[in-house]
Amino acid sequence: MRSGSPEVDVEYALRLTKELVRIPSVTGEEGEIAKFLAEELSGLGLKVELRRIQSDRFNVIGVLKGEEEGIALAFHGHTDTVPPFGMENPFSAREDEEYIYGRGSCDQKAGLAASIAALKAIVDSEVELRKGLAFLGVVDEEREHRGSYALVEDGFKADAAICTEPTGLEIAVGCKGTLPLKITTFGKAAHGSAPWRGVNAVYKMAKVLLALEELKPRSVTVPGVGEVRGSINVGLIRGGEAYNVVPDSCSIWIDRRLVPGETQEDALREIREILDELGRLDPNFRAELSVDRPDWEWEPIKKRGLKPCLVNPEEDVVKWVREAHESVAGDRGKLKFSSGYFEMDFLVNDLGIPTAAYGPGDPELAHTPEERVSKRQIVIASRVYAAVAMSAARTA
Ligand SMILES: [Zn+2]
Repeated sequence: MRSGSPEVDVEYALRLTKELVRIPSVTGEEGEIAKFLAEELSGLGLKVELRRIQSDRFNVIGVLKGEEEGIALAFHGHTDTVPPFGMENPFSAREDEEYIYGRGSCDQKAGLAASIAALKAIVDSEVELRKGLAFLGVVDEEREHRGSYALVEDGFKADAAICTEPTGLEIAVGCKGTLPLKITTFGKAAHGSAPWRGVNAVYKMAKVLLALEELKPRSVTVPGVGEVRGSINVGLIRGGEAYNVVPDSCSIWIDRRLVPGETQEDALREIREILDELGRLDPNFRAELSVDRPDWEWEPIKKRGLKPCLVNPEEDVVKWVREAHESVAGDRGKLKFSSGYFEMDFLVNDLGIPTAAYGPGDPELAHTPEERVSKRQIVIASRVYAAVAMSAARTA
């Protein structure tokens, strides 16, 4: 067999994508898909562990052993999806010539299926692996990241990893961090006909908003990619009880995206300085700042945050993906930096595993009612994954 090119069962990769789409796995309900994946991977001959995260929520960890101890390459993907929202027939896995449709098709069941198809190709080729390969299917990526958090708690080790999120077959060497924040201003309630008796918390928030609009988060240059911009967006505002009452509190929620080199603490400090300054200018100004997202309750993730990450483009795994992509797809593998958040953060920043994100599907379609994934991209990704696995776990 030629090294670097075990044969991928294309029908299998496409069928498995459809099977996975047909198993609803909205965040919190990853039990059934975990058991399905465990059975599939056991069937291929991998050693499988279901790691319980919460009652019926499991990470799936499959290992294909090599001659030596350890994992040369891990495929990391999440098993949960966002809810269907307005999507029609979200779990039918309808298809046409070009695409497979459905919630989770692109984000990221195609990535899961392609990595399993690659592992199957390695098994089918009967090649002797010097070091092992792993499949990591984690829960809760769309909410509190408890699945990848557990990988860190368990001290998972590998020499390299691929994050199988949809990148449209571009190679992401990093992603922005995301810091969800809440600011509340406080006032004093009074009757709307006598506002001088109260303190209007909405007016206080107006000052905060104008100051935030002036804030210019920094940019950095990422080697091989270009300029990456940090950002801030106020996405939600709530304040007041009735039109004829002076509001005694007002809250906003902020989506702050961090570039490599920026920490959660840096971004918090920047906003704390604004609030302190407003407090110095106005004795009636009172405000509170916290890490908060309407759907985050779990304290460990508020404390840890979601960090930016960056991998050196000269890392082996980046080169392997690039070379494999060029030979399989026949076009130049394009490096990029993802504006959206990927859990490669946990692998790179906490576990020290060099990781590239590369997967089938247009990331713009994730979470939308038009979610679908290109079959051609699934096939290419499966072949690229198989080739990279071979580069990583080269025969003895
Ligand atoms: Zn995703």
